Amino acid sequence: MKVVIIGSGFAGITFAEKLHTLNPDVRITVVTRESDGFYSRPLLSHGFSKDGIEQSIILKTFETIRQKAIEILTETEAEAIDRHHKIVNLAAGSIKTSIDYDILVLAQGSAAFIPPALMADRNNFYLLNSLADLKELRQIRQQLLSKNKPPHWAIIGGGLIGCEVASDLVVSGDKVTLFHAMDRLMERQLSNDDSAKLLKVLKDSGVNVLFNQSVTGIDKKGGEILVNSNNGGKFDVGLVSCGFKPRTELAAAAGLAVNRGIKVNSFMQTTDPAIFAIGDVAELPNGKLYAFILPIRGQAQWLAEYLVDEDIQPWIAPDFKPKSKVHGFVADNPKFF
Ligand SMILES: Cc1cc2nc3c(=O)[nH]c(=O)nc-3n(C[C@H](O)[C@H](O)[C@H](O)COP(=O)(O)OP(=O)(O)OC[C@H]3O[C@@H](n4cnc5c(N)ncnc54)[C@H](O)[C@@H]3O)c2cc1C
Repeated sequence: MKVVIIGSGFAGITFAEKLHTLNPDVRITVVTRESDGFYSRPLLSHGFSKDGIEQSIILKTFETIRQKAIEILTETEAEAIDRHHKIVNLAAGSIKTSIDYDILVLAQGSAAFIPPALMADRNNFYLLNSLADLKELRQIRQQLLSKNKPPHWAIIGGGLIGCEVASDLVVSGDKVTLFHAMDRLMERQLSNDDSAKLLKVLKDSGVNVLFNQSVTGIDKKGGEILVNSNNGGKFDVGLVSCGFKPRTELAAAAGLAVNRGIKVNSFMQTTDPAIFAIGDVAELPNGKLYAFILPIRGQAQWLAEYLVDEDIQPWIAPDFKPKSKVHGFVADNPKFF
């Protein structure tokens, strides 16, 4: 059996390794645009306070994974799925190839969501969604620091990641103004009391938190970033952190059913029986996306087991409470997810 996986994040690599353990005879190929290895995406939001993060964030090199006879095609883009011939079209730079599959697993994860109002200003701000993004931001920060100037960051979005990054930057000595559209922080994950507790932790550490902000644009003038909002201002760097967007484009173009994520049944199977989806990209029949490491690991391991023994119960989401990595903050009553 030939299994092709698109994506080398927690979903793709956990699945590949588990399947290889359960049945070493399966031919497994991972296709990924990454080059640095399998890394911990959650650690990105602690990427400024830690020295040498570019190395320590790597959980496994691709070479280590290849030693398990899992083939990994790096710096390779999966461009299209030909369901009729069971082929994925690939591009590695200008070299175009294809790979055939018996089973295809979509584990492409998610991109950062950019609010439509900010799309036109894309060149004026950064995102923090991948190791490549972090490396770029760390370089920009070093350039500003070399001018003996602690950078002043505008972070748009007071959700889980925006708060974590704001906290990590002030701990690292930078200035941060956090623009949040709502009237309390992390309103999706925290109770009112915990939001208030988080606000105090961030304010005490030096973050300037602005609520009820409608950011309508981010401009660049003479090296400065101008945030257009009720309480706009001038900054050195703009970072937009407004949630995530599952990468559904390939699936949609191949005619699979797609909503916010790629629609799967409770066996993680898409509307094509030979194609499965796991991780940030998968939308379960209850309409939920389980975009956290714990359930994603569960989905990946469950799918590997299912492919070697179809006689198992469907995947059931675990009860868990997402934890915030804001320095010095622990929620008293995190919401169950
Ligand atoms: C800053 C940050 C902090 C987070 N903190 C936490 C946390 O504390 N706890 C927690 O549980 N979760 C956290 N998360 C969420 C968690 O990291 C994700 O839910 C998880 O990494 C998703 O794993 P995945 O394998 O589905 O996708 P990803 O990790 O996104 O991996 C998908 C891979 O597929 C590749 N790819 C996509 N399309 C193609 C293509 N067409 N061709 C080739 N390759 C492709 C991508 O480059 C990527 O490497 C955080 C996320 C971020 C961004």
